[in-house]
Amino acid sequence: MQSVQLALYNTLSRRKEAFVPLDPGHIRMYVCGPTVYSYPHVGNARSAVVFDVLYRLLRRLYPRVTYARNITDVDDKIIAAAQAAHEPIESIATRTAAAYREDMAALGTLPPTQEPRATQYIPQMIAMIERLIARGHAYAAQGHVLFDVPSMPDYGKLARRDRDDMIAGARVEVAPYKKDPADFVLWKPSADNQPGWDSPWGRGRPGWHIECSAMGEALLGETFDIHGGGQDLMFPHHENEIAQSACAHGGAPLARYWMHNGFLSMNDEKMSKSLGNIVTVRELLADWPGEVIRLALLSAHYRAPLNWTTETLQQAKASLDRFYNALKLARDAGVALSAGEPPTTFLEALADDLNTAQALAVLHEAADSLNQANMAADAPRRRQAAARLLAGGDVFGILRQDLDAWFRWQKPGSAAADDGEIQTLIDLRLAARKARNFTEADRIRDELAARGIVLEDGAKGTTWRRSLGADPR
Ligand code: AMP
Ligand code: ZN
Repeated sequence: MQSVQLALYNTLSRRKEAFVPLDPGHIRMYVCGPTVYSYPHVGNARSAVVFDVLYRLLRRLYPRVTYARNITDVDDKIIAAAQAAHEPIESIATRTAAAYREDMAALGTLPPTQEPRATQYIPQMIAMIERLIARGHAYAAQGHVLFDVPSMPDYGKLARRDRDDMIAGARVEVAPYKKDPADFVLWKPSADNQPGWDSPWGRGRPGWHIECSAMGEALLGETFDIHGGGQDLMFPHHENEIAQSACAHGGAPLARYWMHNGFLSMNDEKMSKSLGNIVTVRELLADWPGEVIRLALLSAHYRAPLNWTTETLQQAKASLDRFYNALKLARDAGVALSAGEPPTTFLEALADDLNTAQALAVLHEAADSLNQANMAADAPRRRQAAARLLAGGDVFGILRQDLDAWFRWQKPGSAAADDGEIQTLIDLRLAARKARNFTEADRIRDELAARGIVLEDGAKGTTWRRSLGADPR
């Protein structure tokens, strides 16, 4: 364990606060996960990547961390998508949940400790709703159960909006069975062709907000350390989670630190399905290595807006090429590479409310040191500098690829030379050299160079890589 003081911006207080865990022996964090009905876009991926860095940092600072990220597999959007595609709900949810896991893994995110699916926690949701009714915070009406917003005096303390604003912002239905226009749904009736579960209020399904309150309680307890999600979830989703959990738990707060990542935009407009300006992670992975997309997502501070451009991706690629190149030079000189401790300044930057841009600057300094040691052919310094760079890479979730594979990466299905063809040309060049046909040997080298392949003749034979800075498009 390294000791640096972690500070996090808490949306509840609108201030950066020293992080004081409830139990330093066991940190507990919940992040709202995807509603599974379509492939995630890179805006959706931002929160998965940002909170993955926080998870990796927490694991370095504390002995045990439980990180829960749910999958919402019952929701009106899924029902609508299933009807439109003539696909069973269960199948669309399972298929897109698997795609989400695959895409997030390609971006280097660790699987969360817990990945609860809402449909597996229906009894816990019903039990929580019953408690809310018993305590006078909810009421049943026409097959629905509603949360009684006026029963909670400090409702709205996270979003800090006034009442009219909240009613307009939540776009809650004005329905005849509501006592107050701000009241929101905990349970609603299901038609025969909709997914439903038996309950004291008839066959129905949960509202979205109660899902997270019930899963958080089941997996992390009544009060846990950190709750995260995208900025747009602050209201009404998180406000309602706070209300449900506090009222079900006799006032105990749901989480102590509330964290929200900013939006990713394209051409200065929020990337969103409804605007139609989305790029899926899958589409990006056809053009760029996952680590490039990941580092591009970490290039801005997590609370700041991030405008997504090809330039952001190119800069991330240039940084990674530089790191991998420094490591490869050391490796090729016979230095054994393994991760050590990251630079303290690197951890301090991340511990300062996840200042990823500053932390990246420290990684560049580590690469500078490694390059200087490479120039001086100083083996112990090389080993040390490489160990620091690799350890920083671990916390960032980068530099995890095989060094040769990194430089040989190309667009999947690309028309450029494949690895087998390159090896054949290298063998032909070797045969030409043995036959002292240097004109032919040089011609082959030039042909490969024109296709972006650089040959490196060394004591152990000829190796190759794709040229640095080559646009992977
Ligand atoms: P949605 O697909 O709109 O239901 O969003 C799913 C999740 O992705 C939510 O947690 C949102 O906060 C997040 N999200 C959606 N669009 C963006 C965006 N452009 N930038 C950052 N996060 C986003
Ligand atoms: Zn949630």
